[in-house]
Amino acid sequence: MNHFPIFVSLDAARVVVSGGGDPALAKLRLLLKTPAVLTVFAADPAPEIAAWAEAGKLALEPRAPEAADFVGATLAYAAEEDEAEAARTAALARAAGVLVNVVDNLDASAFITPAIVDRAPVTVAIGTEGAAPVLARAIKADLEARLPASLGPIARIGKAFRKLAETLPHGRARRDFWSDYYTTAGPRAFAEQGEAGAAAALDDLLAHHLGQTARPGHVAFVGSGPGDPELLTLKARRALDEADVVVYDRLVTPAILELARREALMIDVGKEGFGPSTSQDHINALIVEHARKGAQVVRLKSGDPTVFGRLDEEIDACDAARIGWHIVPGITAASAAVASIGQSLTRRGRNASVRFLTGHDVAGFADHDWAALARPGEVAAIYMGKKAARFVQGRLLMHGADRATPVTVIENASRPDQRVLSSTLATLPTDLAAAAMNGPALTFLGLAPRAAAQALPALQKEFA
Ligand code: SAH
Repeated sequence: MNHFPIFVSLDAARVVVSGGGDPALAKLRLLLKTPAVLTVFAADPAPEIAAWAEAGKLALEPRAPEAADFVGATLAYAAEEDEAEAARTAALARAAGVLVNVVDNLDASAFITPAIVDRAPVTVAIGTEGAAPVLARAIKADLEARLPASLGPIARIGKAFRKLAETLPHGRARRDFWSDYYTTAGPRAFAEQGEAGAAAALDDLLAHHLGQTARPGHVAFVGSGPGDPELLTLKARRALDEADVVVYDRLVTPAILELARREALMIDVGKEGFGPSTSQDHINALIVEHARKGAQVVRLKSGDPTVFGRLDEEIDACDAARIGWHIVPGITAASAAVASIGQSLTRRGRNASVRFLTGHDVAGFADHDWAALARPGEVAAIYMGKKAARFVQGRLLMHGADRATPVTVIENASRPDQRVLSSTLATLPTDLAAAAMNGPALTFLGLAPRAAAQALPALQKEFA
């Protein structure tokens, strides 16, 4: 370790930056996040630098720095694009005993600026001593994805609570308290109610750790997306990491279930369109039962939990049992399916609205505004539409839809076994029967795959 990592306090510290081009700008963007008193020396500053000076964020001197300019400074950046000028600045800084960084010149620098993941007051600094900047960037990207943006405020709120937490005995008890706050209670409360929620969570958690209350259970309604684990949100991944119990649907893929915490209890409540399923009442009861025992329950639903997911019934059950809950959205099947055929759900001049329909509901085939759907240019994503294909076709034709209206069925969208069936309203039921699709499938009314759309005769183009 040639370079020793430290965190330097820049509270009221003077930092000198010389240069007015891109390298200076890059450093200044970072330095402006600190309370440092900044002086920039630049004869020809970039407009942003001039604007910052105007706004009083830094002092701008339209000249090269002199020896006296470095007296009392904590750090200096020689960020001139001209090498000789930068070397001159660096020499002046060194002579004044100030640590200096010469931009893009590791050997001439007394310190280097690491790649930074900023969740202040939590900051992660990554350095490779110049060996592999690409690696530093990759590590940074990885950590950026892993550390939620809420970590900063959560840590700030936690810091303000440190005195109160001292009512807990030093050591294990206090450590467990902070671990609960930072890994589960804090992020969850912040997601639900922002800063006020995180502050309240600290009070509840302290009461619990002092032995006054039982740990409260909680239900997260999490969207698992269309099947590809890479289409999970970061929040969904985190919820799976923290779950005590995962209650999941049939359409959630094994690769996603793999991501749940190893110790989590996994409960399959697989629901099949018309087939056997765990009754909704039973699912509600199951969720409530586990949360009541203090479990962190993840109710994992395919796609987005707010789309044809019977979410409200489960929320009502939680409310009735006074159990806290929140929703983590997911990528709905229509989004994944439309991506796979290279189309947009809406398109200027074609359709300014799109409908999400279900082919059937608890009462059987679902009724819709067929007259509106039969108009040219309409786009609808039909969920659970395979068995209803003939019904939908009949209704639409009855209301005057063009038999040539393109219809595309996407099976297993986003999964390795994805299939696209390009059809028309006239031939949909026969084409579907011939394709013998067994996986979940989404039917687009009024959309053809982009490549096919381009080859269509002019008459049909208006639909595509
Ligand atoms: N909440 C889910 C929808 C649940 S209803 C969502 O937002 O996607 C179940 C229906 O969704 C299936 O019958 C099928 O029409 C559709 N579906 C779910 N996953 C799919 C996938 N990977 N490919 C195509 N359709 C899918």
